Amino acid sequence: MRLKLFLSFTLIVLVSVSLVAVIARRGAVNEVRSFMFRGGMYGLSDLTNSLENYYQINGTWKGVQSIFIPIRGEMSGMGGMMNQRLLLADASGTVLADTQGGAVGDKLTIVELATAIPLSVDGQTVGYLFASGGVGVSLVNQQAILTRLNRAVLLAGLVAGGLGLILALGLSYTLLRPVHALTIAAQKLARGDLSHRVVVHGDDEMATLSHSFNQMADSLQQAEEARRAMTADIAHELRTPLAVQRANLEALQDGVYPLTSENLAPVIEQNYLLTRLVEDLRTLALADTGQIELERTPTDLTSLVERMVERFQPQAGSQQVMLTLTPPADHIPQISADPLRLEQVLTNLLSNALRYTPTGGQIELLLASTDGSVQLSIHDSGPGIPDQALPYIFERFYRVDKSRARAEGGTGLGLAIARQLARAHGGDLTATNHASGGALFTLILPVAR
Ligand code: ADP
Repeated sequence: MRLKLFLSFTLIVLVSVSLVAVIARRGAVNEVRSFMFRGGMYGLSDLTNSLENYYQINGTWKGVQSIFIPIRGEMSGMGGMMNQRLLLADASGTVLADTQGGAVGDKLTIVELATAIPLSVDGQTVGYLFASGGVGVSLVNQQAILTRLNRAVLLAGLVAGGLGLILALGLSYTLLRPVHALTIAAQKLARGDLSHRVVVHGDDEMATLSHSFNQMADSLQQAEEARRAMTADIAHELRTPLAVQRANLEALQDGVYPLTSENLAPVIEQNYLLTRLVEDLRTLALADTGQIELERTPTDLTSLVERMVERFQPQAGSQQVMLTLTPPADHIPQISADPLRLEQVLTNLLSNALRYTPTGGQIELLLASTDGSVQLSIHDSGPGIPDQALPYIFERFYRVDKSRARAEGGTGLGLAIARQLARAHGGDLTATNHASGGALFTLILPVAR
């Protein structure tokens, strides 16, 4: 990558510098040629062009005096200043016109020819314009000037190219530094080091990418920690019922206890617990992958809650707990829901409420409807949930009082499942403590459209 970037920069530098050098050289050579060698230096470039045009149109110098001599007047100011006399000679060097008369018919000397301005038409030298008294530039000198010019352009190109390459090297290094850091971080991540993060500089695209990488690493690390904790929790949860079962079965096998249905009861009870645990884990696994299948039907939440309250009335009665559903003030619209899954959620919430509400206490259910959703709140008069535990009670296997909850048959997965089911319905389940004491759970479900 670094090499590619460097080569790309190098190519750009070389192409730009070469282009600039070629264009600059061409332009400069043309300018110098016309200035030095085509009479520009003496203000003669227009005359040079006119004479060449004349020859091109006429194919001969015949009659050229008609345009050459009038120029004498125009030139006299400058020519006079520079003490300049102009001679026009044909290709063989024979003078055809002379601004001062006299030399017509004479031949230009070799030295004069070498410093004269060659007039060319279609690449052929058809004559010479000689400015006597001016500063002539011989062919050798012309070549030397052009060579020096070429050398200067080449040197400028080399210096610019060299500087460009150094810059390209620096730039490719600077640009690729964050990519390099990201590559190292990605490699570490791939090797299992989930704690490595990249340092984010600035707020350009690279910074956004680095930021996203760090976020990805965060969620990977959290997922990995959750997976480890989950595995440990599952192992821990399985161990107790398995150990109890085993102890009971071994005692039966060794004849310590007689094989009666009474002695088999604890084994079956632990088996039920294990079955429930596995079933709960399966539900959560399905929820995690969004695979919980809801058999939605138009559901009247009011009658569903009434049914559930009726179902829990005997248990509440035996605990001397008052379980009531306050009649809703507003009409509760139908919702599209899976009634069995909602019963599962309510069973969990009501079992918990009954578990934590002391004898003589009460559990109140209240239905309300607001802004396209219906809400069911369950408020008990138990001890409530310690504030520091509130953020965690929906986590898997989280229990405020571990030994008590387990002893009472809780798997620690009930609320996690209930919330997942509420969310699968497009709703939510929240928990807080009521101002008057006791826990307050609120189930929110969207109204069917
Ligand atoms: P469990 O199977 O232990 O009941 P849950 O997920 O249903 O697991 O509940 C998690 C924890 O939340 C419980 O262990 C308990 O500490 C707390 N909790 C749940 N409901 C109540 C409630 N009504 N009053 C007080 N604490 C509660």
